[in-house]
Amino acid sequence: MKRRGLLALATGAGLVALPVGAMAQAYPAKPITVIVPFAAGGPTDALARILCQRMGEALGQQMIVENVGGAGGTIGVAKAARAAPDGYTLAFTHMGTLAVNIALYKSLPYDSQKDFEPIGLGGTNPMVLVAKKDLPAKTFPEFLAYVKANEKKVQYGMAGIGAASHLGGLMLNSMMKVNVLEIPYKGTGPALNDLVSGQFDYMVDQAVNVLPQIQGGNIKALGVSTLKRLPQLPDVPTIDEAGLKGYEVTIWNGFFAPKGTSKEVVAKLNQALLAALGDEKVRARLTELAVALPTTEDATPEALRAQLKASIDKWVPAVQAAGVKPE
Ligand code: ASP
Repeated sequence: MKRRGLLALATGAGLVALPVGAMAQAYPAKPITVIVPFAAGGPTDALARILCQRMGEALGQQMIVENVGGAGGTIGVAKAARAAPDGYTLAFTHMGTLAVNIALYKSLPYDSQKDFEPIGLGGTNPMVLVAKKDLPAKTFPEFLAYVKANEKKVQYGMAGIGAASHLGGLMLNSMMKVNVLEIPYKGTGPALNDLVSGQFDYMVDQAVNVLPQIQGGNIKALGVSTLKRLPQLPDVPTIDEAGLKGYEVTIWNGFFAPKGTSKEVVAKLNQALLAALGDEKVRARLTELAVALPTTEDATPEALRAQLKASIDKWVPAVQAAGVKPE
C-alpha cells in the first residue's frame, strides 16, 4: 500500500505539476539568448534589438541577441531548433528561413512547423528595390531596360539562399525574365555597405534596413514591394505600378522557441512581446522604419503558427513556379 502510494505521488500530476509551475514562476532567472540568423547591422538584427530591449525590461532579464549568419539563415535557425527547450534560447527570424526555404533546399536541418513553438509576430516589413547611386537608371522602367541590356554583367546582392532579400530578388528577376548573378552575404547589413560603395548593382531589402541610406542619398530607391506606396517614400512607385503587375513581397518576423518549451514560458515571452508592441516609443520607432505592427490578436502564438502555414502555402509553390531549383 505504502509503496503504491509513493509511486502514485512520484508519477502523478500533482508532483509533476508543482516543480513545473514553480519553474515557470521563476522564469526567467537568467539572461535569454535570442539567435538572429543573420549578421549584425541588418534588418532582422535591428528589429530584434528594438523588441528585445523592451521585452527584457518586461521580463526583468536581459534578452541578448546572438548573430549566427550564413546559408540564408538556416545555420542560426537550426541552432535554435537544437537548443534546450528551457526558454533561454530563442530565435527571432523571418518567413524566408521558415517558409520560402522549403522550396529552395533539398533538405533543411529543421522542420519549421514541427521543431518550434511560435511565440509571436514581431512585425511585417515592406521591401524596397535599391540600386547603387551611379547605376545609369533613374526610374523603374529605365532599370528594367538596363538590366535586360546588361544581364551578363549586372549583379544583385542578397543574404543567402532563402533570405528575404533572395525572395525579393528572385521574384523580381523572374518577373523581369532575367538571369542575374547573385552575390550572397551573411546578412543585408554587410550587403548594404557594399551597395553603398558600389560593389554590386541592386538589392531588394526590407525598408527598415535601407531607408536611412536612401534618405541620406547614398543609394537610390527604384520601387517598393507593396501594392501601396510607403509614406516614408511617397515619390517611389510600387514595383507593381511601375511595370511588374502583381509583384508583391512583404516579410514577417517573429519569435520562436524550440519544440517542447513549456506553455507557461511561451505565455510569459508572449506577454513580454505584447508589452514591447504596446510601448509608445517602440511603436513610434518601428512605424518610422515602415514596419507594420501586429494587432494583439495577430501577435498570439496561434496566429504566428497560422501565419507560418499560410506563408508555406503561398510561397513554396510561387518560388517553384519561378523556376528556382533547390540546392
Ligand atoms: N533579413 C535579411 C534578408 O533576409 C537579412 C538580414 O536581416 O540581414 O535578406
